[in-house]
Formats: sequence, C-alpha cells, structure tokens
Amino acid sequence: MQKFLSHLECSVCGLTYSPKELQTVCKSCGKSLLARYDLIEARKSLKKSDLAHAGNSFWKYSPLLPIQREENIVSLGESVTPLVKLARLGVNLGAEQLWMKDEGLLPTGSFKARGLALAVSKSKELGVKNICIPSAGNAAGASSAYAARAGIKCFVFMPKDTSIVNIKECQAYGANVVLVQGTISDAAKAMVEARRSNPDWFDVSTLKEPYRLEGKKTMGYELAEQFDWKLPDVIFYPTGGGTGLIGMWKAFDEMEQLGWIGSKRPKMISVQSSGCQPIVRAFDERRNDSEFWNNASTIASGLRVPKPFADHLILKAIYESKGCAVAVPDGKIVASIKEMAAKEGFFICPEAAATVVALRNLLKKNFVKRSDTIVLFNTATGIKYPELMV
Ligand SMILES: *Cc1c(COP(=O)(O)O)cnc(C)c1O
Ligand SMILES: [Zn+2]
Repeated sequence: MQKFLSHLECSVCGLTYSPKELQTVCKSCGKSLLARYDLIEARKSLKKSDLAHAGNSFWKYSPLLPIQREENIVSLGESVTPLVKLARLGVNLGAEQLWMKDEGLLPTGSFKARGLALAVSKSKELGVKNICIPSAGNAAGASSAYAARAGIKCFVFMPKDTSIVNIKECQAYGANVVLVQGTISDAAKAMVEARRSNPDWFDVSTLKEPYRLEGKKTMGYELAEQFDWKLPDVIFYPTGGGTGLIGMWKAFDEMEQLGWIGSKRPKMISVQSSGCQPIVRAFDERRNDSEFWNNASTIASGLRVPKPFADHLILKAIYESKGCAVAVPDGKIVASIKEMAAKEGFFICPEAAATVVALRNLLKKNFVKRSDTIVLFNTATGIKYPELMV
C-alpha cells in the first residue's frame, strides 16, 4: 500500500525535518513536530470506503500513518473501539444524542495504546533499542507492553503514588520502573537527569516525539467513519497532555483536505479537574499557553499534568472549534463512575467520569444543546482503578 508521509513540520516556526531520522522536537524553537502527508496525492488515490474496509483496527489508516514498512508494525491486536449510544444516561442528563467511544477495550486497557503503538513501531523502524517515558500511569503501561512486544527496553518514570495496578503492570512487562516523589513533571525531571548518563534512551514523552500524536489522531478517523463521515456537534475530552484532542483536530483537518468530510467541526471541550486545571485557567484568561499548576492533585491521574508541553496546540484547537475548557471537582467523579455503571453497564475511568460531570454543567448553561450529537471518550477501563471504588 502506498504511504503518503512526506515530512515533519514544526507546529510553531514551520521548519521541516526528515522522518527518515529520529526526531524529537524542533531544533530551532523547541516545540512539537507534526507529521505531514502528501494529501494532494493521497486525495487522488485513497477512497475512504476502501480504507474503511481495510481491516478492523486503526492500522487500516496506515497510508496516513508514519510507518513505512509493514514488518515494523508492532501490534497487540488492536480493534476499532465501539461507539455506543448512552440512551438512559442521556435521558437523565437531558441529552438526546449522547454517545461514548469506549477506548477501554484497547490493549493495556487505555487509549494510550494508540499513541504508543505508533511511537514504538516507529522507534523499531528507526532502530531504537531503548525508550523512556514519564507517565501518570497508563502511558507507562502501554509503552512497556508495546516495547516488550517489539523487543525494545523500556524505562518508565512515574509518581510514587501511581496506582499499584499501573506499577505492577509495567513490572510484569519487564520495564524498568522508577518511582518519583511528586507529579509527572517531577518524574520527567528525574528522567532527564537519568538520560544524562544514558543518552541512547529515546524519549517518547507526550508531544516531544512526533508519532504518538499520529496514533491518537486515529480516534478522529474512526469517529468520522462511525458517524458515516459526519462529525458530531460536541466532543468532550479529558485533558492531560492533550494528545487526543490535538490529534483529532489534526485528523479532521486531514480528512477535509482528502475530501472525506466538509468544513463542519465539533466544539472541542477540554475537561480537567479543579485540582489541576492549567488549560482551563489559560482558556478563561484567553491565553495561548498555560502556566504551571502548583500542587496539582486529582484522583483522575491521567489529568494530573501541571503544564502540558503542547498547551498552545490544545488551546488553539479549543479556540478554533469554538469549544471551551471546564474543570470539575474530584468529589463528583466517583458518583459519576457509579452512575454510568448502574445506568449503562459501563465501568469507566475517573477521567471519563469527569466529562460526564462537565456535560451536565454545560447542558445546564446551555453551552451544549439537548439536541446536539455529543461524544464522550471513555479513555480507559474502570478496572484499572480499584482503589477509587470505596
Ligand atoms: C492519559 C490519559 C488521559 C489524558 O490524555 P491526554 O491525551 O494526555 O490529554 C485521559 N484519560 C486517561 C485514562 C489517560 O490515561
Ligand atoms: Zn520550530
């Protein structure tokens, strides 16, 4: 199958880089690099209906993904995740078209699998032997699993108070686990320190490596296909590093250039916890970047990111989409997990439960309309968070 990857481009200054070599961030301005494809050529030969039938996982979008040779694909048997209607919860909230994309069914139980499948595959393609990552939990699990599958060594740096499930999981995959006092930011600092004596570790931190984003963008492609190439009105996204939100926004742009969808876009709603809401504060102040959130604390560990590296890209997508950023208190999260489980039979993660709370608030404020087609993402299975269920 023909591949259309052409180059990497800095998200801020526009400098371009070769995807044939290992790349991290822009050498000039230090910001994230984005994979660019020859979409004019792709438009001539790629039919969305052909791709839709090319398999049952996000790998069917391979012509628009960065892996050049089939044999470098590292897979744990991913599948297209279900888009399910939440009729009973919808009635309760007053939302007539409420849907959830259940990412908890991906390998390792979270949507981090998408990004790490791509990052590890590309690492393999470029001959990387060791990867390292700071993580709040699920990214560490996914990188450890895909690295094990690829025969690559994995070094994960996590906060000391990370759920025991995540820690045990990484250890079982054979990863080197380093626990650090503090948040993911402190874990990242410890990793930078450790890399000084291990310069051959390839850093796959969120958006400091170009390809996790490409994995996460496949949520946008799958969603469009599942809605018969008409995008929903509103997307609620629990935001930590923001990869999925930025990735879907990129996917929508690519699909429009391919002629697969029109110019209509969903409102992108970034959901955070009141205990760590750098994006919400930046949005409220109409800023283009965020400030470090001190003493970050929330039971939704995936949202405990005090300063997202690609904050400017998250905020850009929110502004362009005419969406917003909202924070919800931790105190409402567990009740929402139970509500979803009891009403709909889905045991969701706390990050997703936060989006249910946000939805309720935005329906009340009329920012979201009862008749809107609304999509929530269950970003991980609730089974990974037993300690929250007291
Ligand atoms: C990482 C994570 C998030 C946040 O995702 P980003 O793309 O980093 O914003 C949300 N939910 C869960 C369960 C996660 O593991
Ligand atoms: Zn740059």
